[in-house]
Amino acid sequence: MVWPCPLPVDAYIAAGRRVEFPRPGCPSCAGPLVFWSGYWRYVRAVGRCRKVFVPRLRCGRCGVSHVLLPAFVLAWRLDVAETVGAVLAEVAGGACGVRPAAERAGVPHTTARGWVRRFGARAGELGTAFAALAVELGGDAIRPPAEAARFALAGITAAFGAAAALPGWLAVGRWRFASSVSGGRLIAANTTSPYLIAGSRRFMPPVPP
Ligand SMILES: [Zn+2]
Repeated sequence: MVWPCPLPVDAYIAAGRRVEFPRPGCPSCAGPLVFWSGYWRYVRAVGRCRKVFVPRLRCGRCGVSHVLLPAFVLAWRLDVAETVGAVLAEVAGGACGVRPAAERAGVPHTTARGWVRRFGARAGELGTAFAALAVELGGDAIRPPAEAARFALAGITAAFGAAAALPGWLAVGRWRFASSVSGGRLIAANTTSPYLIAGSRRFMPPVPP
């Protein structure tokens, strides 16, 4: 599970286990979840590797545990969603090639190239899903650009634009929004995971400040 954490990475790290984590219902049975344990994982933000705490919640009915990732984390990726998103926006948006985008983001060229390839491979699916989500959230339908990666980018931007009219999302930001609604799997290799097609009922809304 991914929660739409609006905290800056520094603030999340500083709070450690005392972050005010949300208490979502169980994704399977909607029953109550209790905090069970957690683990520490690395993230890289603004060129620095840091450790963040990720809590694990457990459903008493299902006996299944779920991790609660903050939205700045992408599943199986070291770099935060904002870094990945900045590279994707520049390259897919046609502003520049992978190498200058990687340099600006402070990540290895090969890493950035992997993100762009993965995004490109899923671009049709992402564009369709996010464009549909934009409409579901009350936004306008977009006219799909011919190029798939540009379509995906336009879909994400349109969906976030619609979400930003709802309480709490503006502070979360475009790439954390994309991470939240895709369950952290925006550029994951595993495409069989539950996905945002089901719309707003499937992802956790932010807690308004
Ligand atoms: Zn359950």
